[in-house]
Amino acid sequence: MITRDSKKSSSIYISNGCLNNCSFCKLTFQEYPLKSVELNEVKEAIDSLDEENCSELLLKGTNICQYGLDIYKKYMLPEIITYLEQKENIKRVILVGFSFKDAIKNDFQNVIANSTKVVELCGSLESGSDRLLELIRKGFTSQEIIEFVQGIRKINDKDLFLNIISGFPTETIEDVKRTLEVLKQLEAYEVSICRYINSEYVDSSCYEQLSPEKIQEHTRIYSKVLQKRNVNTRIVGHGYIYN
Ligand code: SF4
Repeated sequence: MITRDSKKSSSIYISNGCLNNCSFCKLTFQEYPLKSVELNEVKEAIDSLDEENCSELLLKGTNICQYGLDIYKKYMLPEIITYLEQKENIKRVILVGFSFKDAIKNDFQNVIANSTKVVELCGSLESGSDRLLELIRKGFTSQEIIEFVQGIRKINDKDLFLNIISGFPTETIEDVKRTLEVLKQLEAYEVSICRYINSEYVDSSCYEQLSPEKIQEHTRIYSKVLQKRNVNTRIVGHGYIYN
């Protein structure tokens, strides 16, 4: 449950699995059902890291925003964030596996905005195109995620680490442009460009697939535009791309 990443930085894995059903997601069938760690165990882990003088804590899970739904039938991440506010030595909290859908639909905006400890959100946009977001079943629109992030930043700035999918089935150059426009508005600190990899087990395999050359082209565009904007970028997924 706890990994010590360095002398001052540690991770707590608070949950595994996800109840969402994104059409491309291989994790859904691999890690379903959701399994959360008991809240008192999470609090004990936080207490012990705080006592050890840990200054940076990463809260991790497949989808940490659904933490607690399986055990307590409610969204409990806000309770952990509030608990962390009282800790003396933990200064920076990074939320990894942050699902914007669950956070938007369950009003996490205030608790995150008002947290002095949460400094980074690491989650997935996938696409800025509402057409593709619907095909992905991502559960939010581009406007909803923009309003959510901007609402938080009005109170407290947070860094955003986002994943996008390059070459999702049927993605057009217009979709790529719209995603780049949404990323500009979100002011992401780092963007991981994940090249779409099909699988017969996922629903998105039914959509019209892009050729490897098209996926390569879209990846290049994402990469070049984001680098020009001085956004940190990483390209992940199989090697269709060579520069
Ligand atoms: S929210 Fe993430 S883990 Fe959950 S189904 Fe979607 S892509 Fe998979």
